Amino acid sequence: MPREDDVQGLSREASEVIYLDYNATAPLRPEAWAAMSEALLRVGNASSAHTLGRWASERAESARNEVGHLIGAAPNEIIFTSGATEANNLALHAAAVRAQRVVVSAVEHPAVLEAARALPVADLRIIGVDEDGLLLLDELEDAVAGSGGSVVSVMAANNETGVLTDLAAITKITRRAGALLHVDATQLVGKLPMNLSLLDIDLLSLSAHKFGGPQGVGALFLRRGCPVAFEPLLRGGGQERGWRSGTLNVAGVVGMGAAARAAADQLEVERRRVMTLRDHLEAGILATVNGVERNGHPDFRLPGVSSLAFRGIPADALLSAMPGVAASDGSACASGALTPSHVLLAMHRSREHAESTVRFSLGHATTAAEIEEAIMQVGDAVRRVRTAMS
Ligand code: PMP
Repeated sequence: MPREDDVQGLSREASEVIYLDYNATAPLRPEAWAAMSEALLRVGNASSAHTLGRWASERAESARNEVGHLIGAAPNEIIFTSGATEANNLALHAAAVRAQRVVVSAVEHPAVLEAARALPVADLRIIGVDEDGLLLLDELEDAVAGSGGSVVSVMAANNETGVLTDLAAITKITRRAGALLHVDATQLVGKLPMNLSLLDIDLLSLSAHKFGGPQGVGALFLRRGCPVAFEPLLRGGGQERGWRSGTLNVAGVVGMGAAARAAADQLEVERRRVMTLRDHLEAGILATVNGVERNGHPDFRLPGVSSLAFRGIPADALLSAMPGVAASDGSACASGALTPSHVLLAMHRSREHAESTVRFSLGHATTAAEIEEAIMQVGDAVRRVRTAMS
């Protein structure tokens, strides 16, 4: 059995590494671990009518409440999925059935971009961003005009740069045009407030592992009365009101619920703490390393993300030179592929700039001591790589 203190987010061997890759996945919150371990040790299918099945379904329903509470949604507007990739695919698949046009931004995650490209809708429009990564609202306005039924899908916060989307402005445009709006809020939920009772959003995706829940579980918010076709991706036993068949991942959703509650309780405290640490990391690197440029709007971004280009240094060389810091070159989902970040290219950055960008992402378990140490290690690694290259 893993020990309780291994679950302060990090296992012992991993804790020797300074973990600054929260946008790829966040460490499990202790609350999620405790709730999941109880659920994993019990038997019971949430669809079974006996006592043990009822225990499972009651726990899952209370998790549904917690997830709804975190985003200002009613529990019956939450569909559990295997994560945000599935939620994004399900949202677009269902919303596009009656749509003539699908509109997405150029900086979306592949789980939206690739899903949109695969839809049987002839008219796919891709909206650009400015140099700060902010969506070009006039392009959006043009794209939704006169379509007679569009689906718009934009992210709430970018996974590579942390840049936020002005959702209030977007909802005005989509409402005026009568378009359906899907928001991929995977990187924002649990880090900044999201209140769907105040925003005209029809569908929204989230993923537990980005806010301290387990991997492989997430949810799609589907607004009550939203006029999408009933078009599930997976058919079978009819779980999740038919929207997502398959035996419910009880421990997963229970862990997500506990993480949602902890994130909601800590939201403001964590936001301020993480932002201070991020600003300190950025200031420390900028003060000690030459030729560093920040990507993305300096203020309108997630509190825990810093995307920095180190002039003349390939990001993979820098990351290999600092094995004690776990950060990411571009987005983890795209790393391994040799293509430069589509997000940075869309922000009019050069290929060289994109290839020298490292993303640091902090979160609920990041400490001030780790940030001090990371500043030193980044500085040392840059000097070593620059010396080796000269
Ligand atoms: N959307 C965004 C913005 C993401 O950052 C991610 C995860 N990298 C996903 C979707 C996919 O989420 P999941 O891992 O839950 O499939």
